[in-house]
Amino acid sequence: MDKTGNCFAANYAEARAGFLAAAKGLGLDVETALNPLKGAQGEELATDAVLLGEAEAASLLIVTSGTHGVEGFCGSGCQRALLDDEDMHRRIEAAGVAVLLVHAVNPYGFSHLRRVNEDNVDMNRNFRDFADAKELNLAYAQVHDLLLPAEWPPTEANRAAIVECIKQMGMAAFQAAVSAGQRSHKDGLFYCGNAPTWSNRTIRALLSKHGAARKRIGWIDIHTGLGPYGHGEKIFAGANDAAELARSRAWWGADIMSYYEGKSASIEVQGSMVMSIYAECPQAEATGMGLEFGTIPFDAVLAALRGDHWLAIHPDADAAKRGAIKRAILDAFFIDADDWKGMVAGQARVSVLQAVVALAEK
Ligand SMILES: [Zn+2]
Repeated sequence: MDKTGNCFAANYAEARAGFLAAAKGLGLDVETALNPLKGAQGEELATDAVLLGEAEAASLLIVTSGTHGVEGFCGSGCQRALLDDEDMHRRIEAAGVAVLLVHAVNPYGFSHLRRVNEDNVDMNRNFRDFADAKELNLAYAQVHDLLLPAEWPPTEANRAAIVECIKQMGMAAFQAAVSAGQRSHKDGLFYCGNAPTWSNRTIRALLSKHGAARKRIGWIDIHTGLGPYGHGEKIFAGANDAAELARSRAWWGADIMSYYEGKSASIEVQGSMVMSIYAECPQAEATGMGLEFGTIPFDAVLAALRGDHWLAIHPDADAAKRGAIKRAILDAFFIDADDWKGMVAGQARVSVLQAVVALAEK
């Protein structure tokens, strides 16, 4: 296998060990936030961060992986490739910027092959104002039982009922009901949680430590599971602000999609992680995007997610069923093929370089 392929790990423990070894090789200090739980193999779970470039720079670029747990196989590989990339290190030094790599925002989901965290929470729905008592996405209640039927795999009757539901609601409304984020069903899909999670608090602590004195902060949050195979859709991440969107297009290109404009593969979401920047670093000019790499078709991704949530509420499922469900969710969010790994590492590299150049102080 080629050099880039070696950056992608087979499990969380291997990904973390590789990240730590690469950081050590570069003589970088690692900041570790230990999660109180254990991983799927009994290993320690943590979010690890390293700072490259000029530590006190006025400009900071943040690159995060594993916000959605199992999607971390991709983001971790891209971060490893950056750590091994001497040419990129020279460019970062020359630009006079700091780059913060945050490995495994949601280490529990990464290790246990879940998109959600230890509280069944979707991290990109959790960064919201919990004091706001307004109930959100009431339509989720209409689809919950259909998404998580008594039997798995779903019966023909369940499939037919979902087809009928989509016909009645319309596809766009169905997708929004499923994935906009909900807090009525703790065991459901795209659950927001009731309070800031461990990962939320960990990210905010890193932001306030590393971001509070910066003038400008860029943020690339790496995801998988939406869009064409190997294609990195650039999804604007930030407030609904025309100047911020224009700046993000100036950095990363005209193909930045904004769900505020209805142009993204993603529906509009509230409570995404990047929004924490306004509270933690109010002095900084923020420019963020989610880099979303396509894997397999959306209906197969949704089926894999449903299976994983079904398993979480049926922990007594037999080993064969458990194995098939975990295989399906890994295959939905990571492609173990050299062409895909090359595509994602290459596109992530370009996006990082574009941000570094845009943030350059020299
Ligand atoms: Zn994601």
